[in-house]
Amino acid sequence: PATLGVMGGGQLGRMFVHAAQRLGYFTAVLDPDAQSPAGRVSHHHIQTGYDDPAGLVQLAHLCQAITTEFENVPALALQTLAQTRPVAPGAAVVGIAQNRIEEKAHFAACAAVSGVSCAPYAVIETPAQLQAVQAERSDLLPGILKTARMGYDGKGQVRVKTAGELAAAWAELGGVACVLEKMLPLTAECSVLVARGWDGRVVSFAPQRNVHVNGILAVTHAYDGNMPSALATRAREAAVAVAHHLGYVGVLCVEFFVVDDGSEHGGLVVNEMAPRPHNSGHYTLDACDVSQFDLQVHAMAGLPLPQPRQHSPAIMLNLLGDVWFAASGQQQDPDWYSVLRLPGTHLHLYGKVQARAGRKMGHLTITGPDVASVKTVAQQAAGLLGLPGLDAI
Ligand code: ATP
Ligand code: MG
Ligand code: MG
Repeated sequence: PATLGVMGGGQLGRMFVHAAQRLGYFTAVLDPDAQSPAGRVSHHHIQTGYDDPAGLVQLAHLCQAITTEFENVPALALQTLAQTRPVAPGAAVVGIAQNRIEEKAHFAACAAVSGVSCAPYAVIETPAQLQAVQAERSDLLPGILKTARMGYDGKGQVRVKTAGELAAAWAELGGVACVLEKMLPLTAECSVLVARGWDGRVVSFAPQRNVHVNGILAVTHAYDGNMPSALATRAREAAVAVAHHLGYVGVLCVEFFVVDDGSEHGGLVVNEMAPRPHNSGHYTLDACDVSQFDLQVHAMAGLPLPQPRQHSPAIMLNLLGDVWFAASGQQQDPDWYSVLRLPGTHLHLYGKVQARAGRKMGHLTITGPDVASVKTVAQQAAGLLGLPGLDAI
């Protein structure tokens, strides 16, 4: 059988491997960690650094096509692989998504077709730019200073209220390239998953509404009526426009803010994108006939991209390492028996041995015959697990 390759061995890679294996593919995972969730379930696990030439040669030699699940895989490594094998998404688009400055420039460049803009922002790469922003861009305060690179789950971000706090925050972040973004009055957040094939054809999922706690995704609401339909349509169209504009191949997730702008449903602002399947799309495994990982496998293998159909309303609860310490302060498995006794619960654990606060250990998706029963079970499960973020359910 042919082999599909993936750069990165986290849970996204693991679920990609599962989907590939279901279609009979072999898989190869490149990740330096011997215990990586995807490496442990893959046929081949290349345990080298992401830019190790020998590892890249081995991966290219083994694989028919290669994808990435790790947001910060060196773009140069993808370029190297692309010399001999199809790589999707490509190095250029991954490079854009890895750098908030380029990402925002891209969003601005396609605003005319996507119909959405990003939050007002300024680039801060030098002390002179910092001073200019302090002097001239008080409109961006209060704001969030975000490192241009390497941030995820709210890491590499500092909230600032004054010009003085801004300077201190930039120093705290190491004086690296950053963007200062205006803090917006969010009423909700959502994301859209799009898959685009080599032939430029696109399929997409309806937007899911996301609740973040401490900058980390906590809950995803995926059902009809999770947000005003006018906004949902705009978000979905905008995400598709972004994928086309990038010439993207594979699964792309675009995150949006819903802001209170005085209009009936609020305004839509594009936040950022992830060049891969996304945590907010995990519900598709249990609630849709085709999952985001199936689509990534199809895209990689050059197979048709079926338009997914969601067959059940769903709520996904993220399971962070905190849950393992909730009961006694010691690492201890939650009471899965009680959780799984609830109807429509689907537990996914990523095989990570060591739980840590904020570490993504697994997720629980609740499906059911109707939204009301899904919400009821989600509340019960969250109660059993001591999870936050369900107040606004
Ligand atoms: P991810 O893990 O999704 O990649 P990240 O670290 O790249 O996250 P962002 O998506 O930029 O971070 O921000 C994390 C969260 O912080 C957002 O989902 C939102 O809740 C909040 N946030 C970020 N920017 C703003 C803003 N300009 N105004 C209000 N809230 C914001
Ligand atoms: Mg991000
Ligand atoms: Mg985000």
